[in-house]
Amino acid sequence: MAFDVEKIREDFPILSRVLPNGNRLTYLDNGATSQKPEVVIERLNRFFREENANIHRGLHYLSAEATSNYENARNSISEYLQTPEDSELIFTRGTTEAINLVTHGFSGEIKEGDEIVITLMEHHANFVPWQILAQKTGAKIRYVTVKDNGELDMEDWEAAFTEKTRIAAFTHVSNALGTINPVAEMTAFARERGVLTLIDGAQSVPHGPVNLQALGGDFFVFSGHKVFGPDGIGVLVGNRDILNRFPPYQSGGDMIDKVAVEGTTFREAPEKFEAGTPNISAVIGLAATFEYLSGLDWDGVRKHEQSLLQETTERLKSAGGVRILGEAPGKASVISFLMDDAHPQDIATILDNVGVAIRTGHHCAQPLMTHFGITGTARASFAFYNNRDDVDALMAGIEKVKRIFS
Ligand code: PLP
Repeated sequence: MAFDVEKIREDFPILSRVLPNGNRLTYLDNGATSQKPEVVIERLNRFFREENANIHRGLHYLSAEATSNYENARNSISEYLQTPEDSELIFTRGTTEAINLVTHGFSGEIKEGDEIVITLMEHHANFVPWQILAQKTGAKIRYVTVKDNGELDMEDWEAAFTEKTRIAAFTHVSNALGTINPVAEMTAFARERGVLTLIDGAQSVPHGPVNLQALGGDFFVFSGHKVFGPDGIGVLVGNRDILNRFPPYQSGGDMIDKVAVEGTTFREAPEKFEAGTPNISAVIGLAATFEYLSGLDWDGVRKHEQSLLQETTERLKSAGGVRILGEAPGKASVISFLMDDAHPQDIATILDNVGVAIRTGHHCAQPLMTHFGITGTARASFAFYNNRDDVDALMAGIEKVKRIFS
């Protein structure tokens, strides 16, 4: 069906909320978390009302039904992501846990003197776990710099690779800048040098289907709550052979093959990495989310998001006294900005007073902020359900900030 933002908005009950201060909700904090369509809310509701049971262990009807819904979710989400044949899809708590699982897995493989490449535009979730891995193992991290316009410096990226490089981890889309990195090119470059790669897809999957076979790479991670699905759930897609040689991340029920006083043997991925009762409802809710997303006209979505981005960027620039951080060509619909005189916190507070939700601060990207010599920005991040009224509300708020601080 052709993309019609007003029709789409009807799918998201929260968007018609009127806030206690009487303002219509203008939700522009989609980079932090996105809103949920009615079908996902209803799917979670149905699970708890009619289907709730633990999986994998019971012989009774409900348990078998929940198990099959859980495993079908794994299959349908794999299909949506076009995962490679030689990969496994593991459910985690989110992007953060998925990356920690991978860095934990590498702790027995990385040795003193090995090198890890990451970038200065990473979210802390794809920064700190690698730092801890490096500290534990004596490995060295090389940090790829970012150009003034927010693009990754690809010359620096290539120069960061040495004979000792073992792993490179990088974001697909920057949460603070909106930059879309050329990840297919990056995974190919790394693969030619025998370097393993992890792509952080937390901010890319919300903006359109990804084809993991085309992107390449050994690991891909993202969070359910940012892709219009439930929170407390995330996905790690990883190369099967590498995962199977990793030690368990957590241990306990469901991940074992045989447990005896003499010792325990483990199952293979994905079960090996899903110890204990998983977030069953969220997995089933995430499958419903991707079913919903599959029905969208993504060409229409992309055009719509790009036109909101363009219009907002132009209006912010012509408002005067606004500096936009990150203007990489073809970027995603995320706008980080600073205003003369007004601190980002003041901007967010004034906008909140008129019902506009944005985010301020370092966006869990402190190394990036330090690189640009600032402590934080104000960030408006758009999803496909945002409309021109949202842009108008944001700009009315910006005018108010200007009046107060002039
Ligand atoms: N990576 C990126 C690019 C993000 O934007 C975020 C969250 O903002 C994360 C990782 C961490 O995601 P989560 O908190 O859902 O684990």
